[in-house]
Amino acid sequence: MSALEIVNRDPASQARTGRLKLARGTVRTPAFVPLATKGSVKSLTPDDVTGLGFDMVLGNTFHLMLSPGPERIKDFGGLAEFMRWPGPVITDSGGFQVFSMGHGTVADEVKGRRSKPEASQGQGRILAIEEQGVRFRSYVDGSEMFMGPETSMEIQAALGSDIALVFDECTPFHVTRDYTARSTERTHRWLDRCLEWHSANGPQEQLVYSIVQGGVYEDLRRESAAAVASRATGGIAIGGSLGADKAQMYEVVSWATDELDRTAGERPRHLLGIGEVDDLIRGVELGIDTFDCAMPTRLARHGTAMAPRPEKRWRLDLTHATGRDDHGPLVEGCECPCCAAGFSRAYLHYLVKAREFTVMRLLTLHNLYFVVKLMERLRLAIDEGDLPAVAAALRAGAAPWEA
Ligand SMILES: [Zn+2]
Repeated sequence: MSALEIVNRDPASQARTGRLKLARGTVRTPAFVPLATKGSVKSLTPDDVTGLGFDMVLGNTFHLMLSPGPERIKDFGGLAEFMRWPGPVITDSGGFQVFSMGHGTVADEVKGRRSKPEASQGQGRILAIEEQGVRFRSYVDGSEMFMGPETSMEIQAALGSDIALVFDECTPFHVTRDYTARSTERTHRWLDRCLEWHSANGPQEQLVYSIVQGGVYEDLRRESAAAVASRATGGIAIGGSLGADKAQMYEVVSWATDELDRTAGERPRHLLGIGEVDDLIRGVELGIDTFDCAMPTRLARHGTAMAPRPEKRWRLDLTHATGRDDHGPLVEGCECPCCAAGFSRAYLHYLVKAREFTVMRLLTLHNLYFVVKLMERLRLAIDEGDLPAVAAALRAGAAPWEA
């Protein structure tokens, strides 16, 4: 039986609303999952995050393995208890970070971003990729480390997450079709090892999600989707290189969801690392139930607010001097803790220029509020049967509370 109870379906697309029932609570879907990479949603408290309306956060297996270490977290009863988060937690497998070391700037390349200083932080060095797993050097103390399917599952068991992701190879965009094919096959073998370890040793209440790979090749994507759907996992994630631009990304995701529609039953689907406004709308239309992405919180820390400005990729860059004398709020009608308190663009611009910590928190609150309202609006639209009109209004630049 699927952990996802599907409530309503949009007749015009693959979109659906649902309730994802997990060990620590229920996630209203489609949902955005903020990153608590190292055990905190940067600059926020758990109360802030639940207050905004989020049901689940994502912790990072790779970073938490290096520090403070799974044993220390297990000793506190798991990651949720350690960080005092009252709801469900999803943990990634660590594969993405491990392979980012080997494939250079894959973390940025996959998302079509240029390299940014923050993305290169916290990266160690890969020593060998073998059938057994990956050997690499820790960025914390330079020691040699190993991660394979069993290690990843063991760490995620110690973290006690509600959803664990299987260990996969995240292939970058620049590798050949032949490499992608061989890597995808190995990912499927690793999937079986993850499931074997988990069924013998993993927490029973922990759902395991498999991951569809296959790069940008239609046959490989479809084969991978069918292969992972044939395994008895609690849910399915879509990962890896999704293409060079948005059009290709939507096509690659659609191959996977199209295949999953036929073969995966009603199991929940997660899209890894995607979170721009237009991508969330399209992802929902393609039948994705949950999303995670560093974008809203990372933008906030770099002085950029999310705003209903499709022509500017829904961004308002506060480092620009244009807002220097602007008395208005970040976004008219926004009821986030930052806008509701009456902070002006001028003040926030000044704080960004002065590098005050407070502004990172205020912009993080605003950006996550914008995203949570977007997801709420999309859910309501699906439930009320007017998703096409609402999606069109959002794409045209309506704020989530206006659409
Ligand atoms: Zn706001």
